[in-house]
Amino acid sequence: MSDMLEENQNQPKLKAPKGVHDILPEDHQFMTMIKKVVRHRARQSGFRRISTPIFESTDVFARGIGDSTDIVKKEMFSFSSKDGKRSYSLKPESTAGVVRAYLEHGMINLPQPVELYYIEPHFRYDKPQKGRYRQFHQLGFEVIGELDPALDAQIINLAHKINQDLEISELLTLQINSIGCKKCRGQYIEDLKNFYYGKERSLCFDCKDRLEKNPLRLLDCKEEDCQILAKMAPKIDQALCPECKDYHKNVLEFLEELDIPYVENTSLVRGLDYYNRTVFEFWGKEEGAQNAIGGGGRYDGLVEIMGGPETPAVGYAAGMERLIGYMKEKGIKPIHKDKIQVFVAQLGAVAKKKSLGLVGQLRDLGIHVLGAHGKGSIKAQMRMADRFDADWTLLLGQIEVQDGTIILRDMKKGSQEILSFDNVLEEMVTRIGPENLDKTTIWE
Ligand code: AMP
Repeated sequence: MSDMLEENQNQPKLKAPKGVHDILPEDHQFMTMIKKVVRHRARQSGFRRISTPIFESTDVFARGIGDSTDIVKKEMFSFSSKDGKRSYSLKPESTAGVVRAYLEHGMINLPQPVELYYIEPHFRYDKPQKGRYRQFHQLGFEVIGELDPALDAQIINLAHKINQDLEISELLTLQINSIGCKKCRGQYIEDLKNFYYGKERSLCFDCKDRLEKNPLRLLDCKEEDCQILAKMAPKIDQALCPECKDYHKNVLEFLEELDIPYVENTSLVRGLDYYNRTVFEFWGKEEGAQNAIGGGGRYDGLVEIMGGPETPAVGYAAGMERLIGYMKEKGIKPIHKDKIQVFVAQLGAVAKKKSLGLVGQLRDLGIHVLGAHGKGSIKAQMRMADRFDADWTLLLGQIEVQDGTIILRDMKKGSQEILSFDNVLEEMVTRIGPENLDKTTIWE
């Protein structure tokens, strides 16, 4: 035994890998609240839930997100099949996978648009820092198969409603831009390149590469020198074709109609290749783009890139850890049902047997019950009830078993009374209140 102890002491402590976290029960209360809000809002608008696999062929992301994006170039967790013939990657985002599923399962034959939502873990090999992790969770919405500025406004409205439901809306601003279509973006990208040519020395290492491979991304680089140049660069709103201008104007008018405040941001481009026309993000009023909670836009070319016919689409994704960060900043206490309502303490073999049945019956009624199973004294068990923050404690000793009674202690008041054992279930339901019972329901 002592040898084993020594051996254990020499072992390095086991820890979660860098950049990934356990979700402890307190944070699950926030997660549950977000999930409930998302499911509720999704149901209201006819969205149905989808889960794509945690890993997919690397090709799904390379084609969908774009070979030259930071996500695909630097941030994917990739691995090979055992025969080395296939490359897989953990999903860094869900849109590419959802579109792959839309095509694979013939959803193109369903009435369009197809409205899907997801709540999933994602993985990016990022440098871990506050709000940027290697495993994180996103909720997202995709509307595939119809082109209309009202759909862009509706998906923004959905995101806005979720932020309102979570009571963080006033901490955020909606940033919005149009990055044009294939037609007008081509000329704009040429103008942008011409502006940057000759200024390469002022660009960061990544932006030097972006200038040739993904010039739009030069506009949203977070490096200070690159930001100064981006401010002076030609603006896309001047380059939009009449159709894109009109489309964008319509989206903004719909937002106004829906009473959603927005900031027009001509530098906003989003980091993924598949967007066109509308792009938007929700930024923290103080931290700006660094701590965006989510973003999205129109991606009319993606279905085609993934091997399907030309199909318009629009989507949104938000990071749950960042949402939780803002909820905590605002001091929001998530509504939850984890409270222990009754603690059952007992002393003696017969009482223990009887209390087992009682615990089960109370739970079946929808009461949250903890039972003491140890052989501790009543005093020790009462301390436990206190530590678990139970509202009530039921005490069953040998005398109570003989008398057919049970002691009920109100933990807040510190008062005690004797109840008839036969009435205890009824009494507890009355004291807790039928509205506070946790009944199993499939509608939550
Ligand atoms: P993106 O589509 O990359 O803008 O991601 C959408 C949202 O997901 C972001 O606004 C963040 O809230 C969240 N997110 C993205 N990457 C990470 C990460 N590495 N860690 C935590 N949250 C992230």
